[in-house]
Amino acid sequence: MNSLTNPVPLLQDLIRIDTTNPPGDEIACVEYLIDRFAHRDDLDIKVLGPSRDRANLIVRFPGRGVAPPLLLHGHSDVVPVTGQDWRHPPFEARLVDGEVWGRGSVDMKGGLAMMVSSLARLHEAGQRPAGDVVLAVVADEEHGSIAGARWLTREHPELFSGIRYAVGEEGGAGIELGGQRFHPIVVAEKRACWFRVTLRGPGGHASRLAPPQTPMRQLGHLLTALSGVRLPRHLGPAAHRMLTELAGHLPDPLAGRLRSLRDDDSDAPPVGLPEDQALQIDSLLRNTVNPTVVRAGDKINVVPGEITVDLDGRILPGDHTRDEFVSELRALIGPEPPLELLVEGFAVDQSRIPEPEFGGFYETLADITRKADADAAPLPMMSPASTDAGFFAQLGIRCYGWLPMKVPAGSPYRTLLHRADERIPVEALEFGTQCMTALLRDYR
Ligand SMILES: [Zn+2]
Repeated sequence: MNSLTNPVPLLQDLIRIDTTNPPGDEIACVEYLIDRFAHRDDLDIKVLGPSRDRANLIVRFPGRGVAPPLLLHGHSDVVPVTGQDWRHPPFEARLVDGEVWGRGSVDMKGGLAMMVSSLARLHEAGQRPAGDVVLAVVADEEHGSIAGARWLTREHPELFSGIRYAVGEEGGAGIELGGQRFHPIVVAEKRACWFRVTLRGPGGHASRLAPPQTPMRQLGHLLTALSGVRLPRHLGPAAHRMLTELAGHLPDPLAGRLRSLRDDDSDAPPVGLPEDQALQIDSLLRNTVNPTVVRAGDKINVVPGEITVDLDGRILPGDHTRDEFVSELRALIGPEPPLELLVEGFAVDQSRIPEPEFGGFYETLADITRKADADAAPLPMMSPASTDAGFFAQLGIRCYGWLPMKVPAGSPYRTLLHRADERIPVEALEFGTQCMTALLRDYR
């Protein structure tokens, strides 16, 4: 039985292949998929990567040749489960009460399963999409894409030549406000900009008074300066359109609050919105930073002489540069200590990502979601997270984050990305697969 049309068993298999990154080992996932495609002789299959275990899979499905090729991209790696307390084991992919449990069920092996199943459904129906479909199953998305989309787009841009549009994950951009459900269509993304700060100073035996400038004390200052801060406001076109459409679908006073958030330059924190949504929307109006990893001493009787702190920074799309971001951080922490750049998402040469496009392809995505779920509104969004879309965008491809899931209002699924108990309803998987199949049939 080689049918891939049912995304549920496919997703279960994918979850059981542990691709926790680091180290990734995405080759296991790639080999599994190649095996599942083996019965088709009409596919062009390539495996490429900087090393054998960090493999990317590129499969070209033939179309009718009346439209440019379409890119569907998804990552096969997942984030670790260390320190998380799961109700069901994260790599067993148990089906419990209509939900598939496991790491990657939403982010984004579920999305991969939707893509693969929709391609299989079209094939079984004897249909072909308007153009070739290039399925890119990429490595390393959760750790800077160095072995994945970044490597592929630099080393093998020819694989993507002629592609005009791409669909990938939405990076958890979904939002729900005032009881109204929305289907996010991500048209712009922030990019990661990760730094390491090394604090050095006098250490020594912990049985005596410590001198004033220990790294521990510096750490206190640094964390205080950078935790929960709102960097300066920069309202861009994607956030502007998103706030406008959100307001258009919601009643007052919510609508009015969203409009004033859009129009009021005073940059007061959002009021009258639930905290989660307020934080999410506020994050789209500015660069953000969060200290996430602290490495300090490991002996209770030694004052450490060196502490490192990793900072997860996110930069707005458009013209916003790393230099601008660094000066915003410097305004808070002063001229010291040095900020060592660990990873900068896609704009390595500080090149610009194009402004969002709301043309025909966007409308096709919006129409499909409207028809599939009349009670929810499609919503153009900027994602606070960065996905691989930015790399493909640098090849001139217009990228959209679109993995539709129909889930009840108030359900936790989108907020479980990277957390314990990540899971996806079977119904949501089926809904997404149907939408994706409609896209393969409808896109021009
Ligand atoms: Zn993801």
